[in-house]
Amino acid sequence: MNFAPTSLSDTERQLRSEVREFLASELPPDFRPGLGMAAGHDPAFSRKLAARGWVGMAIPPEYGGGGRTAVDRFIVTEELLAAGAPLGAHFVADRQTGPTLLHYGTEQQRQRFLGPICAGECWFSLGMSEPDSGSDLASVRTAATRVDGGWSVSGTKIWTSGAHLNHYFVVLCRTSPAEGDRHAGLSQLIVDLSSPGVRISPIPYLDGSHHFNEVVLEDVFVPDDMVLGEIGSGWRQVTSELAYERSGPDRYLSTFNVYREFLREMADQPLDDARARAVGYLAARFWTIRQLSLSVARLIDAKRAPAIESALVKDLGTVFEQESITLLRSVADSELDPGRGSLFTQLLAEAVLTGPAFTLRGGTTEVLRSVAAKGLNR
Ligand SMILES: Cc1cc2nc3c(=O)[nH]c(=O)nc-3n(C[C@H](O)[C@H](O)[C@H](O)COP(=O)(O)OP(=O)(O)OC[C@H]3O[C@@H](n4cnc5c(N)ncnc54)[C@H](O)[C@@H]3O)c2cc1C
Repeated sequence: MNFAPTSLSDTERQLRSEVREFLASELPPDFRPGLGMAAGHDPAFSRKLAARGWVGMAIPPEYGGGGRTAVDRFIVTEELLAAGAPLGAHFVADRQTGPTLLHYGTEQQRQRFLGPICAGECWFSLGMSEPDSGSDLASVRTAATRVDGGWSVSGTKIWTSGAHLNHYFVVLCRTSPAEGDRHAGLSQLIVDLSSPGVRISPIPYLDGSHHFNEVVLEDVFVPDDMVLGEIGSGWRQVTSELAYERSGPDRYLSTFNVYREFLREMADQPLDDARARAVGYLAARFWTIRQLSLSVARLIDAKRAPAIESALVKDLGTVFEQESITLLRSVADSELDPGRGSLFTQLLAEAVLTGPAFTLRGGTTEVLRSVAAKGLNR
C-alpha cells in the first residue's frame, strides 16, 4: 500500500483558483447546491466547463482532451463537488467511459466518442448491474447472440444511473457460455439508449427523486463497430474500469454541502461542546480522506495501478459520508422535513434519504474490503 503524503504545487493551486472563479461567475446567486455526483444534470453547464478544458482533462489532445494529469482532474472535480455544481451530464463519461474508450476502444471509436465527451456533449451510463447480479458481476445474464453485422442483445439492467438522460451505456453481457470459467465469455458493448428495443423505467429514490432506472433490452441490435475491446475480455476490462470509479472526490464529498450549510447556520449561534466536537471531527476526517484520495491521483499519474488504495479510499470515504449524516443529525436541533426549512435541513433530509446508497454504488463496503484484503495478501 502506498499513500505518500502530498500537497498541491503552486501551478495546481492556480488551477484551483481558476475553477473557483469560474464557479463564482457561472453559478447564479440563488444556486441551490446538490449532493455530490447526484447534483443536477445541466448540459449548458457541462459545455461551458468543457469550453474551459475541464472535461476530459486527462484525455490526450489528439482526441479533444486536455492531456493533463489525474491530479489536475482531481482538483477540478473536487471544486465542482464542493460547490454542489450540476455536473451530472458529463460526470460518468468524464470519469470512466472516456478513459475506458481510450484504453480499450478502437481508433474509430476514439475518434467518434472522445471529442464529443471532451466537449461535454456525449453522455454515458454504466450497464453492469442486473436484478440478480450486483457484487457478483460475473453472473450477469444479459446475453448477446451473433447476428448479421453485429449482435442482438436481450436482458435487464438495473440501477442504471442517468439512463433516462444519457446517450449511450456500456453493457456488460455474456457473448458465450461460461464453460467452467465464469469470468470467460463476457463482453462489453456500447448501446445507444435510443435504439429500438430499449425500454427505460425509473426507480425513484426514497425521497421520490429520479436518478436511476431499470433498462430492459429486447433484441437490441448492436453493430460490430460498437463492441468495446475484445469479445470475451469483458471481465478484465470491467474490473480495470472499476478502478477509475473508486478513489475520487466523489467518494467523500457527497455530504460536504450539508456540512457547509451547517457551519453557515451555526455561524451566529453559540457553539456547544457537542457541536464543536462534531465540527472539528468532520473537518479532520474530510481533510484526511481527501489527502488519501489525492495521493491515489498521484499514483495514477506515476502510472501505478492503485487498485487496493482506491478500494480503501472508497471504503473510508463512503463510510465517512454516512457517519457525517448521523453526526450532523445528532447535533442539529431542527426537524427534518424534505423540501422545507433551511437549506441545511433540506440537504440533511436529502442526505438521510439517499445516504444508504453511498456504500453500495461503485462496489459495496464488504466487496471493497475483500478486494483490498486479497490484494494485500498477494
Ligand atoms: C445510487 C446507486 C447508483 C448506481 N448506479 C449504477 C449504475 O449506473 N450502473 C450499474 O451497473 N449499477 C449501478 N448501481 C448498482 C451497484 O453497483 C450495486 O448496487 C452494487 O454493486 C451492489 O450490488 P447489489 O445491489 O446487487 O447487492 P448484492 O451484490 O446483492 O449485495 C447485497 C449485500 O451482500 C453483500 N455481499 C455480496 N457479495 C459479498 C461477498 N462476496 N462477500 C461479502 N459480502 C457480500 C454486499 O456487500 C451487500 O451488503 C448503483 C447503485 C446505487 C445504490
